[in-house]
Amino acid sequence: MKVIAIGRNYAEHAHELHNPVPEKPVIFLKPDTAILKNNRDFYYPDFTQNIHYEAEIVLGICKEGKHVSRKFAHTYYDTVGLGIDFTARDIQQQHKEKSLPWELAKAFDGSAPVSTLRPKDTFGDVYNISFRLDKNGKTVQEGNTKDLIFSFEDIIVFVSQYITLRKGDLIFTGTPAGVGPVSIGDYLEGFIGAERMLHLHVK
Ligand code: MG
Repeated sequence: MKVIAIGRNYAEHAHELHNPVPEKPVIFLKPDTAILKNNRDFYYPDFTQNIHYEAEIVLGICKEGKHVSRKFAHTYYDTVGLGIDFTARDIQQQHKEKSLPWELAKAFDGSAPVSTLRPKDTFGDVYNISFRLDKNGKTVQEGNTKDLIFSFEDIIVFVSQYITLRKGDLIFTGTPAGVGPVSIGDYLEGFIGAERMLHLHVK
């Protein structure tokens, strides 16, 4: 399986990192070794001094899709969860300045904690899902899928023109404003609505 992640999909987050709001989805991949499940501890890697959290709504792909049409795009995911797109912001910044790819900043081991996924029907309107991230008991990020620049269907149509989607793939759909650093000793908790979906210690 693979993780497909979308950058700059909430305007306020694009602005906070001084990036333009994109005209097409910005995408990158994480390998399966990035996935961290079951609320396992995240071990802060020694190659970076500035890991940021990015809480994101995650879609679970349920069937193979290539050149998916807009009409059927919604049938290609059947589950929704919460994930964190851990980002080594210092490495990403250096790589952006040199126009290099982002993998070392985004795809490292443990960089994609993800909650259990739930059937999407249990969320009601998928474009009115509120979610948040708490760090050490204080809310640091709040978002709602109504503010997405590119909808889930937009993402599936766009990505599947280039990369075949497979059952079991995950799509990280982008983070709202409020990204910031984590430190060893921090405790992160991710919520969808009032339900705690994910929690982990940074060690
Ligand atoms: Mg992200």
